[in-house]
Amino acid sequence: MLKGKNAVVTGSTSGIGLAIARALAAEGVNVTLNGFGDATAIETERSAIESEFGVKAIYSAADLTKGSECAGLVKFAEDTLGSVDILVNNAGVQHVAPIEEFPDDKWDLIISLNLSAAFHATKAAVPGMKARKWGRIINTASAHALVASPFKSAYVAAKHGIAGLTKTVALETATFGITCNAICPGYVWTPLVEKQVPEQAKARGITEEQVKHDVLLAAQPTKEFVTVEQVAALAVFLCGDNAKSITGSMQQIDGGWVAE
Ligand code: NAD
Repeated sequence: MLKGKNAVVTGSTSGIGLAIARALAAEGVNVTLNGFGDATAIETERSAIESEFGVKAIYSAADLTKGSECAGLVKFAEDTLGSVDILVNNAGVQHVAPIEEFPDDKWDLIISLNLSAAFHATKAAVPGMKARKWGRIINTASAHALVASPFKSAYVAAKHGIAGLTKTVALETATFGITCNAICPGYVWTPLVEKQVPEQAKARGITEEQVKHDVLLAAQPTKEFVTVEQVAALAVFLCGDNAKSITGSMQQIDGGWVAE
C-alpha cells in the first residue's frame, strides 16, 4: 500500500536515516535523501536505491539548521516528486560536555537541527498531507526523549521537545488521515554514537572501551546495540495501514532501557 508514495527522510546520507530511506524504497516509496557527506558517495547511494528498488531517489543538500532550508527541502520534494506523503524528521547531531563547559554554539546547533528543523519541515509538509487526507510523520527522537543522561543537556532538551511536538502535531492532524509518531531508539551503532565515544571518555576520565561497555551498553538491559535495520522496519510499520490508529506515540526500541 506504500508503493508510489513519496517520502522525505532528513539526515539520510548516513546511519538510521539512510536505513529508513532504503527500507521505504524497498516498499516502492520514492525517496528524497538529505544530509551531508562526500558527494560521490551520496550519488552512488542515490543511484543504487533507484536501481535496486525501481523507485525515484532524489537528493537535497539542504542545511536543516536553517528554517528556510527545511521548508525548501519539502518544496523541492513536492515539486520534483509531486507530493510529500511521508516525512521522517531524522537529522540530528550530538555533543557531550558538562553543562558548565557546554559550548553555546553547540547548544544552538543541536536545538536548531534536532528540534526546530522538525517544526519547520512539518509545518511545510502538513498542508499537502491535509489536502490529500493522508500522511505519515515520523520523528526520530531517542530514549533521551523520555529519560536523561548526564553531559547531554542540549540533546536531551531537544529530544524531550520533539516528544511534545510529536504529540501536538498528532492531535492537530488526527482527523485528516495523518499520523505523527516518535521513534525512541536506545543506542544504535552509527557514526553519531561512534563519534561520542572519545568525547564521553574525556568527560568521564575513562577509556573508550569502558565507555562502550560500562556507559553506553550499561543503559541497555539487552547489552546489545540496536541495529539501523530494526529502526527502519519500525518506521515502515508506522507508515502502513495497520498503524493508522497509532498516533502521538513514543515508540521505544531500546533493548529495555527506559523500562528500568
Ligand atoms: P548519523 O551521524 O549517522 O546521521 C546523521 C545524519 O544527519 C547524516 O545524514 C548527516 O549528514 C545529517 N546532518 C547533520 N547535520 C545536518 C544538517 N545541518 N542538515 C541536514 N542534515 C544534517 O546519526 P544517526 O545515529 O543515524 O542519527 C540519526 C537520528 O537518530 C538523530 O536524530 C539521532 O539523534 C537519533 N538517534 C540516534 C541514536 C543512536 O544511538 N545512533 C539513538 C537515538 C536517536
